[in-house]
Amino acid sequence: MEQWLINSLIEKGILSADGVGRGARMNRCPSCRKIIIVGLDDDMCAGVARCDPTPLGLWGEVAALLDGLTTYDLAWRARRYELDRRESLNVTWRPAGQCEGFDVLADHRCGRAPQGATASQIKRKPRPAALPDEPPF
Ligand SMILES: [Zn+2]
Repeated sequence: MEQWLINSLIEKGILSADGVGRGARMNRCPSCRKIIIVGLDDDMCAGVARCDPTPLGLWGEVAALLDGLTTYDLAWRARRYELDRRESLNVTWRPAGQCEGFDVLADHRCGRAPQGATASQIKRKPRPAALPDEPPF
């Protein structure tokens, strides 16, 4: 990518200086080399979120918060996955692992095994049924 384009994207807030954008993507932790999910955590005034990819359940999020970690929603938005920082109301009204459509991830901390993992709540869209070769009339 050319430098003028990178500068323009940074000025518009689409890309951060380290190449991290609003769309979450897989990467490796520079310290321990484990797979993490990286992305900006909001549309404005965002910080860079680096999360373990393991979805957390209710108690997993509680354990992460008690460990001083930040938690994020990971959801499919239009054409990409996005991370959004969870606030106290999210924790209360949209408990981790109990609402369809998003997963809750915690900050990555090297050497810390995710606790309270649960199955992903992000559902794939059902594929449209195959069209029959013969018309129904
Ligand atoms: Zn690490």
